[in-house]
Amino acid sequence: MDYIDSYKHKGLRKKLVEEIKAKGISDKNVLDAIEKIPRHLFLDSSFLEYAYQDKPFPIGDGQTISQPYTVAFQTQLLQVAKGQKVLEIGTGSGYQACVLLEIGAKVFTIERIKNLYDKTRAFLPSIGYNPKMFFCDGYKGLPTYAPFDKVIVTAGAQFIPQDLVTQLKIGGILVIPVGDSAVQIMTTITKVSETEVVKKEWGTFRFVPLLGNKAH
Ligand code: SAM
Repeated sequence: MDYIDSYKHKGLRKKLVEEIKAKGISDKNVLDAIEKIPRHLFLDSSFLEYAYQDKPFPIGDGQTISQPYTVAFQTQLLQVAKGQKVLEIGTGSGYQACVLLEIGAKVFTIERIKNLYDKTRAFLPSIGYNPKMFFCDGYKGLPTYAPFDKVIVTAGAQFIPQDLVTQLKIGGILVIPVGDSAVQIMTTITKVSETEVVKKEWGTFRFVPLLGNKAH
């Protein structure tokens, strides 16, 4: 697909990066990725003016593309190194997956809503991004491709799914917002041995909920 990424878009991205830097994001790889990815292409063209505001935005099917600051915060917590295998739960628009790809991760991403999965699977390769995409229930992770260096959940979970912890390598990190449907606490789980994890909490966020076993 030919697409337009103008000086104006690039300028707006630079401003967005300055804004999230001022809010406390310091990981250069994360900031560089956000500066590079044309976020305006992930939104319907009639909403171009919103693309570089630090806000979440509806992407259809009752779901959202997360706020850039939130994407940056979660990615920074993940401490991704080049070549690492990263599992994302909640593909949505695919923006977060692209941030991970820009950092050099091998990305596996799961979406639970067929319509979004189909849309994003067609869109991402058209702008040059090729994560491995799966249509299934993220609560169960991807046992066939495990273990992962890192796992990131981009929807609000009521609890920490044990399967996702099981599928982490020793030394691996899971980043997951945990709470009720109104508010969640950003949580990291670092797997220090087969039987031990270290849990840390990083403040409140608001996500759409992680969907249960219901078919969509
Ligand atoms: N990471 C996305 C992006 O960059 O646009 C934003 C994700 S949006 C806040 C949450 C996504 O999680 C939605 O697309 C939703 O359909 C998906 N989701 C919810 N429950 C899920 C589940 N059990 N398994 C996989 N995806 C799920």
